[in-house]
Order: sequence, then C-alpha cells, then structure tokens
Amino acid sequence: MPLFGRKKSPETTLPRERWEPLPPPPEPGPDGLRSMDDHRDYLLSCLTELPAFNQQILDALDLSICEDVYSSIDMPRFDNSAMDGYAVRAVDVADASPEHPVSLPVVGEVAAGQDALHRLSPGTAIKIMTGAPLPPAADAIVPYENTDRGTDDVLVHEPSVVSQHVRYVGEDIRSGAQLFAAGDLLGPRAIGLLAAVGRDKVLVRPRPRVAVVSTGSELVEPGHELGGPHQIYDSNSAMLAAAAKAAGAQVFRVGLVSDDPSEVLQVIADQLVRADLILTTGGVSQGDYDVVKAALPELGATDFASVAMQPGKPQGFGLIGDDRTPMIMLPGNPVSAFVSFEAFVRPAIRKLMGVTPYTRPVVRCRATHDFGSARGRRQLARGIVSLDADGGRLVELTGGHGSHLLGGLARANAIVVLGEDVTAVSAGEDVEVWLLEEVYG
Ligand code: AMP
Ligand code: MG
Repeated sequence: MPLFGRKKSPETTLPRERWEPLPPPPEPGPDGLRSMDDHRDYLLSCLTELPAFNQQILDALDLSICEDVYSSIDMPRFDNSAMDGYAVRAVDVADASPEHPVSLPVVGEVAAGQDALHRLSPGTAIKIMTGAPLPPAADAIVPYENTDRGTDDVLVHEPSVVSQHVRYVGEDIRSGAQLFAAGDLLGPRAIGLLAAVGRDKVLVRPRPRVAVVSTGSELVEPGHELGGPHQIYDSNSAMLAAAAKAAGAQVFRVGLVSDDPSEVLQVIADQLVRADLILTTGGVSQGDYDVVKAALPELGATDFASVAMQPGKPQGFGLIGDDRTPMIMLPGNPVSAFVSFEAFVRPAIRKLMGVTPYTRPVVRCRATHDFGSARGRRQLARGIVSLDADGGRLVELTGGHGSHLLGGLARANAIVVLGEDVTAVSAGEDVEVWLLEEVYG
C-alpha cells in the first residue's frame, strides 16, 4: 500500500517491460467481448484487502470488523434501578393498596453515579434514581408514580413483587461473552455496544483513499465560465467522487486534466503517493485522442478490454507504479462512467475495505412497461423503482438508453440489469435490479 512517498524518479520513462505483468485476463467470448462478470471478477482477483489497524470506533461505521470481540464486563455491571422511586423489600409493600397504603421511613438516597452505601433495613425505603445501584437487601423498586413522593416517610399505594423494576447484573451481557465475530459489519448500534463495553478502538480495514481524475480537453471545472461551444462541465469527477464516498472510500477529487499525454501521466503519477485506488474517466475507447489508453502503459501494467455491457463497453484496468496501485479507467460518457462504477468500482472499494458482499444484492421488480435490450450485452438500464399498494416493487425505465443522458440517470434510483440473452421485456415481467437507494411508499 503506498502509505509513504513513492520515489519520484525518471523510472517512469523506462521501457514498458519493466512492469510485472498482470495475471492473464479472462478469455473473451466469440464476439471478442469479455463478459461483465468476468471483468469484475478479474479486477477483484487483482486486488488485496488493505491491512487492518485499530481505528476509533466512530471511524469504523459501516466497516467490517477484523477481530472477534468479547465483553470484558458484565452488562449491567451491577444490580440497579430501572425507575426513579424507592428501593424496598418487596415483602414490606406486598399488601399495599390505595385503600391501605403502607408507610415506610425514607432512610437515605442514592443517585446514578453514587455508591449504594446503606444496607436496607427491614421496614424502610431508600430513595433511588434510575441507573443507581440497588442497596444491599433491597429487592424491588417502587416507582414514584405508586407513592406520595414523601421525603421523610413515603406512602406506598401499590403492591410490589420481588425484582420489580430491578435490572440485574449480567442479564444483558455476561463478561466473556462474544459480541462480534470477524467479518461483522459495524452499524450505529454495534458501535454503541462497543462503547458500552468500554472499547474506543476496533480493528478494521481503513477506508481506501480513492483519487478521482477526469480526462478531456473539452472539460471545464464547475463554477467557471464555459468558453467556446465545444466546452462542457466536468460532471464525472464530482459524481464519481460522491459515489466513491457513498461506497465508503476516502476521496480526493483531483478534477480534470486535458488530453495531453504528459499532463495525464504527471497527474496520475502524482496520485500514487496518496491513493489506494485511482479512478479516471475518459480516453479509453477507440478515438484518436484516447489518451489514457495510449499513455497509461508507461506507468504500469494495464489491461484494456471491450466488455459485453451497455453502456460501458470500453474498460481499462492497471496496477500502476512501483507499488502496483490499482487503477480503474472508466469511459467518459457520464452514464457509462456511473454504471461502470456500480459494476466494477464499488465492488473494488468494498474488497479493499473487506466489506462483503462486494456486489449489490439483486432484487426483483415488476416492469411497468415493455422495453427492449441489445442481444449479447449485459444491459444496465436506469430505472425508477416504486412500491405498489401491496408493497410490491415496480420499476419503470428512465431517460432512454443513451449513455449521455445524465438527466435520466439523476432521476433513477435503480439500475435494471438485463441478461445478455434478453432482447425484450414485457410489462408485468419481473426483472433484476440493483437498488441504489432505499425505496419508500
Ligand atoms: P471519452 O470517453 O473521453 O471519449 O468521452 C466520451 C463522451 O463523454 C464525450 O462526449 C465526452 O465529452 C464526455 N465526457 C467525457 N468526460 C466527461 C466528464 N468528465 N464530464 C462530462 N462528460 C464527459
Ligand atoms: Mg475524452
């Protein structure tokens, strides 16, 4: 992992043969295209999980724990009160009623954070607050609501039974009990439990540092004036930086570089000191200015493939620089870039973090209308999933198939994944979908 500075030297101009080659890539199909699953599996096979280290529990949110965790304490740690009220012996108030209240002298008081000093004598009460330790010999709590809230003496007008409103030591978790197994995902409640047993740090893999670069001489940074009519705003670097962040990465949005090879090589080389994964868009298809494809072999071992998917056919991958930093080179069309991110980059980020499953779960949704799909390609269409009156999932396509249609992509909350053999879907048929967001009624 390139945690420390990469040596900056003229080495990058040495012959390409100096780079250790990539493992042999998967064989393409008869049409010369690599399947989407093969490409994803190949990328994942070239990545190794980042080494785990102890991190603050709050930084471990949504990460997988890399150790078994056992409780070093009982929870509750001591018998204590679940209510504000009076600690009593249940037998002393067993017959209390509104008609025949029982009067007990109040001989002390104990609040949360105080030690229960007194042993409770028969026929007395000790005022007690929620979370305060149960005085020895007390076995029930009478809540304020069942009393006159007396201070010198208290009138109890409801009966009590043993253990009423008492939280007992270890009834939640016993000291030595296993709380988590390696591989468990840490959500907010898990982090709460770690804190409750006194852990401030936990062993997890770090969030991969992902550098995001857009290539294209037509690109202008948002917030700046567009020049000629040939210029467009760079949407990819912001979109993919956001997507990488949402996937759990720590992101550096480098922004844009022109289609000048030396500039591209310099900007990529500069990322090697800080990135666990480099992400670029643009310049990987067959055009004359597809600079990433042409220049990147200078920096490391690369693999450029035509993948049987639509959109997102041209794909690049590399292990770059002396540390063999993974680099995924996506096509420039924003929709292609986004679906490629979902197909390849999100799983790669999750593998680096060691969070499984690497791929999104597939859910089934009922198509609301007919649509077509290209034979021989995995189609990643943008969909809007909604719920019908019975809570069943419906999906309609949004924005058409064009890979430049960012408006439709932004409205989508799902990707409809149609198999290579599918050429048409009829309204009412079930289709497979990756949900990008939670869907509510
Ligand atoms: P490319 O893959 O570089 O051939 O780009 C394909 C198409 O996507 C072209 O129409 C580009 O102008 C467009 N494109 C490339 N990069 C970006 C970007 N960062 N933001 C928006 N559109 C882009
Ligand atoms: Mg381009």
